Amino acid sequence: MVEKQKRMKEICINLLESRGVTLDRIVEIVYDLQKKYIPNITNELCLNAVSRVLDKREVQNAIVTGLELDMLAEKKMLSEPLQTLVSEDNPLYGIDEILVLSITNVYGSIGLTNFGYVDKVKPGIIGELDALGKQPDKCHTFMDDIIGAIAAAAASSIAHNAVGDKD
Ligand code: MG
Repeated sequence: MVEKQKRMKEICINLLESRGVTLDRIVEIVYDLQKKYIPNITNELCLNAVSRVLDKREVQNAIVTGLELDMLAEKKMLSEPLQTLVSEDNPLYGIDEILVLSITNVYGSIGLTNFGYVDKVKPGIIGELDALGKQPDKCHTFMDDIIGAIAAAAASSIAHNAVGDKD
């Protein structure tokens, strides 16, 4: 991996942590998504998959874009009408779900299926982010979708590898 992209990956991991999500919280979701299908699954296998997802430029770009918008919304620095749409997590806004398609698409349609599932069930840290985002001065409009999409893509990567379709 080129140095610049490695640096970008570090920036993304630090950004996720600064917004309250360590990689092990994403690993928990990936593990739960795949344990039914992969009998010898380990946390390490899941962490490697999350790490592979974070190597991808389109994933890094989605992370820095989405989290920036959440942070600007918390500081009330967006212009109207975007400020209200993002800070209130308006269900008709929808750009948060669209942005993360660039993450779920990395591993094909199975990523989208996994994302639909985590978006509905909101397991672990995704549910916590969703609840926290409802507090005043907090905005997780993009964050919950980004975490769900990373977990979904990592689960898809594991599924592809399991059938010998290496990425
Ligand atoms: Mg959202």
